[in-house]
Amino acid sequence: MMTLLQAVNPATGEYMEDIEETKIEEVELYYHQARTSFEKWSTLAISERLIYLKKLKSVMVENMDRLAQVIVQDTGKVPTEALVADIMPTLDAITTIVKHAEKILSPKRVKTPLLLIGKKSYVEYMPRGVVLVISPWNYPLQLAVVPVISALAGGNTVILKPSEVTPLVGKYIEEIFQKAGFPKDVIQVAHGGKEVGAALTAGNPDYIFFTGSVCTGKIIQEVAAKKLIPTTLELGGKDPLIVFKDANLKRAAKGAVWGAFTNSGQVCMSAERIYVEESIYDDFLNMVKIETEKLIQGTDKDSDIGSMTFPKQKEIVKQHVKDALEKGAVLVSGTPPDKWDDSMFIQPVILANLNQDMEVVCEETFGPVMPIIPFKTEEEVIKLANESNYGLNASVWTSDLKKARRVASRLVSGAVTINEVLVSVANHYLPFGGTKDSGIGRYHSEEGLRIFCHEKAIILDRGKLNKEIQWYPYKGKYLAFLQLFQSYFRERKKWIRFLQSYLKLLRK
Ligand code: NAD
Repeated sequence: MMTLLQAVNPATGEYMEDIEETKIEEVELYYHQARTSFEKWSTLAISERLIYLKKLKSVMVENMDRLAQVIVQDTGKVPTEALVADIMPTLDAITTIVKHAEKILSPKRVKTPLLLIGKKSYVEYMPRGVVLVISPWNYPLQLAVVPVISALAGGNTVILKPSEVTPLVGKYIEEIFQKAGFPKDVIQVAHGGKEVGAALTAGNPDYIFFTGSVCTGKIIQEVAAKKLIPTTLELGGKDPLIVFKDANLKRAAKGAVWGAFTNSGQVCMSAERIYVEESIYDDFLNMVKIETEKLIQGTDKDSDIGSMTFPKQKEIVKQHVKDALEKGAVLVSGTPPDKWDDSMFIQPVILANLNQDMEVVCEETFGPVMPIIPFKTEEEVIKLANESNYGLNASVWTSDLKKARRVASRLVSGAVTINEVLVSVANHYLPFGGTKDSGIGRYHSEEGLRIFCHEKAIILDRGKLNKEIQWYPYKGKYLAFLQLFQSYFRERKKWIRFLQSYLKLLRK
């Protein structure tokens, strides 16, 4: 029986299209096709594979406005954010990969120790096979396409399962890869939700690259562990933004507002806990309130904040705000949750008078909510910031750069920005990933290409000698080895003794 995924614009409620879900019975065929196409794709030179990536980039550039519209319709985000935060990083990732993949993935000569005299050593990057990419709905383009192209560049074939919450973008991704002319089945897109995702995970991929919630990440890791399938897990966050009294407060306030409310706060590295030094707390609160209340909510090109994407997420946000208010928090800006309407828009919320027990302080909210908490000392704020199950990103705001670096080094976080927010993800030369519950592994940067390859260690000997000193027979060799290793591993090496024992061993 055919199941359909209904694409509905969350901002307007408008029905757009039905997308046919991939049948569970088809999963086996997907893997069969992926393995068949791997045979040829994996043997292409990297430069040949990159030609397809360049074509993909051209297709995206040519269709950029349409692509932005599809993202906007499927997510409810504002057009500027579709362009700046979903399309641009994808194009930039393709550009960086095209520029550097050949160098990053070509064999690397490494040193060979003297004890292995006469040999050469190098590392080769061998594709893993079929990579399964499972992606979420908040940045439905980049979080799907960037791992896909990173895996493809390394010679893998890919099965992508985009989020069922944004099926239109999933369908469009399939189309742009087709338009770019990728060989058949090198990249296949499977549409559907949890069931399709689970069937694909159980289908024996050679690598799983997952982006999504901690809960799903743990399920996937458990399945993968039983089959020893390696994974990268890019999970949630509860990122602290720390403002010291010596910061450029205008910049920090604007940065905090953008960091907390961009994409309606549906960002894994959203600023979800704002810690402000006590002496500037009231001023800062006032500044962010003014900045927040200037924001325009809507769907057009001049709007700042769009709607929420996923109805269930709106409920979580509502629950967090209610919980905080019930426990004594103060609503500094925004509408009380019992007055929220049925639309998917949430007016940005600022909360004060909080404590660490409130859901809005300790759990991922993933919505336009900014909890602001005062602190007294550097030591205290580091402790508060690190007191979280998450550790994806953080930011430190101060004009004392020595202090900024010191604090940044002590934060248990996959990334830290100083006097900036979120942008570490936009630099494709930097690794991206989390600590603690925020995930396992890194992508972007050189590592983002290498994770999709086995690092193969190769030692080359010309094969001229008939034997090696450590081969059989051992008779009469013990003493010579003892002298060889003692002369070699001493702090002050004894080269003559080393040579004598080496020659002795060669003659045995
Ligand atoms: P989710 O875990 O509900 O879903 C993510 C994907 O997993 C979807 O494609 C879904 O269909 C699939 N899925 C669900 N159950 C599955 C199962 N049992 N087996 C296999 N696949 C399954 O997450 P979401 O709601 O789409 O995304 C929001 C979450 O993602 C937030 O927690 C956010 O912080 C996180 N996120 C993390 C990053 C990052 O890079 N660290 C980026 C964006 C979002």
